[in-house]
Amino acid sequence: MITARDMYRDLNLREGAGIEEIKSAYRMMAKSYHPDSVSARDNASPEKFRKAYEAYKGLLRNALSGASEGEKKARSEEVTGYSPYVFSAKRTSGLNVFYDLILERPQAGRSVRLSLPVVRGEACPRCLGHGSTLKRQGGGFVYKPVACERCGGAGFEERELKIDLTLTSGMLERGKVRVRSMGAYDHKEGKRGDLVVNLEFAEKLPRNN
Ligand SMILES: [Zn+2]
Repeated sequence: MITARDMYRDLNLREGAGIEEIKSAYRMMAKSYHPDSVSARDNASPEKFRKAYEAYKGLLRNALSGASEGEKKARSEEVTGYSPYVFSAKRTSGLNVFYDLILERPQAGRSVRLSLPVVRGEACPRCLGHGSTLKRQGGGFVYKPVACERCGGAGFEERELKIDLTLTSGMLERGKVRVRSMGAYDHKEGKRGDLVVNLEFAEKLPRNN
């Protein structure tokens, strides 16, 4: 059984640190240890990252169980549509993007509507993913050795959008929803990952004030 004390320790925090401190400690740990983090490099440690992530989730869940409706609302801005939602964290693994959501348990048989922010990567429409400037020449087109001015040579662009999900009571019971091809985009391989939403439920706790 992991105690709150362990969780604070895993985030290098003093016991009783507030939500903003918990968040920034987690961001630091993710930067230092996440395998995809550029600044982690040789220090990357999936194990340390996982511990920090679990601690972050656990501490926020504890903190938010007693939070007022106003505080919860402020934290549900990112994921909208279901206001008694308690916590969300986003992480990636390869091309798959995961949302871990902790919601207040909805009434039996009720569906839940959520709006999730996602980043949709697309091949750049100007250079068709090549990254170089496409110029008309003779009867056809050639690529000039000049970076495409639309995407700056990246070959793809990212669009932020929201996807709306209606989670039926069957989906809520399974605790997991997978949306194909809405994860990250690898433009070189032309591959897309999935968006995976993991659901957990927190019982509504009596207010202590
Ligand atoms: Zn381009």
